[in-house]
Amino acid sequence: MPDPYRIWLSEIMLQQTTVTVVKAYFQKFTNLWPNVFELAAANDSEVMAAWAGLGYYARARNLLKCAREVVLNFEGHFPQDRAQLQSLPGIGPYTSAALASIAFDLPETVVDGNVERVMSRMFDLHVPLPKSKPQLTVFAETLTPKQRPGDYAQAVMDLGATVCTPKSPSCDLCPWSHPCLARQRGTERELPKKLPKELKPTRYGYAYVASKDDGAVLLEQRPNVGLLGGMLCWPSSNWVEGEPVFAPPLKAEWVEVSEDVRHTFTHFHLILKVMIARSVSDCGSQRFTKKTEFRVSDLPTVMRKVWNLAGKSE
Ligand code: SF4
Repeated sequence: MPDPYRIWLSEIMLQQTTVTVVKAYFQKFTNLWPNVFELAAANDSEVMAAWAGLGYYARARNLLKCAREVVLNFEGHFPQDRAQLQSLPGIGPYTSAALASIAFDLPETVVDGNVERVMSRMFDLHVPLPKSKPQLTVFAETLTPKQRPGDYAQAVMDLGATVCTPKSPSCDLCPWSHPCLARQRGTERELPKKLPKELKPTRYGYAYVASKDDGAVLLEQRPNVGLLGGMLCWPSSNWVEGEPVFAPPLKAEWVEVSEDVRHTFTHFHLILKVMIARSVSDCGSQRFTKKTEFRVSDLPTVMRKVWNLAGKSE
C-alpha cells in the first residue's frame, strides 16, 4: 500500500511546481522528517528554511499545521474520507481526491491540468478554461473505474504529461485514440481553449541589506500571513505600483546597487531596488544573524536574488 504521508507531501509540493524542481525538496523533506510524527514535531523555522526556494510559502505553513492536526486528531493516520481530508489545512478538492484515490485506492476522480487537457480533447469541449472546469470534472468522473482507481488516476495524469501533451499530442501512441472525439475531428491541437491571461501589474520596492563588520546581517521574519509569510527575508519597503517609500530599518550610509532585482509572483511582477549599508552598528531592537548562522539557502528565491546583487557590488 502506498504511504499516504509521502503521497500527501509530494502532492502539496507539486502544486504549481514541476517534478524536476520538487525532486530534491521531496528527498530533503523525507530524509529530515520521514513520517508525519517527525514533521509534526519539527521546528517551524527549520521547515520554512527547508522549503525556501520552492515558493508559494503558504503551502509550507499549511503543511506543518496539517501534520500536527493529523497527529493530534487522527493518531497520525490520514483520514480516508474526502470531507475529513478537506477539513485539514492545505488540502483542497484536488489533493483530497489524489490522496483518497492514490493512497487508499478509493474511486475518487482526480483532475489536474493534465487531466483537464485529456478530457477536453476526449470530449472535444471548446468552452474555455477555467469556465469549463466543472464540465471537465463531470466528464472525468464518467470515466473513473471502480477497479484500481488509484492506478487509473495516475495513468490518466501520466497520459496527459507524456502522450496527450499541450503542443503535439502523440495520438498514434494513445490508448484512447479510437474514442477520442478531438482526434476524430482533428481539433486536438486547438484544445483546451483558454481565456486570455490578464496582464500582471508591476510593483516596486526597496530591499535593505545591512551588515556589521563581523559579517552579521540584518534579517527579519515576515508575518505568518500573506506573501512570503513566515519566511526569513531582508527588510524591505512596501511593494507598491507607484513610487515606494524609502524607509530603511536603521540609520546608516545606504548605497544603491546599480542593478535591480526582478521577480515574478503569481499576480504581479516585482522590481526591487537593492540598498546596502556596511559596518552598521547595533541600535537595540534589531536582531542580526551571525555570519556563521546565515545560510542564503534559508531565504526565498527573490531574497536570494537580492543577496546575489548585493554581493556583486562589493
Ligand atoms: S487521441 Fe490524441 S488528443 Fe485524444 S486523448 Fe489521445 S493523445 Fe490526447
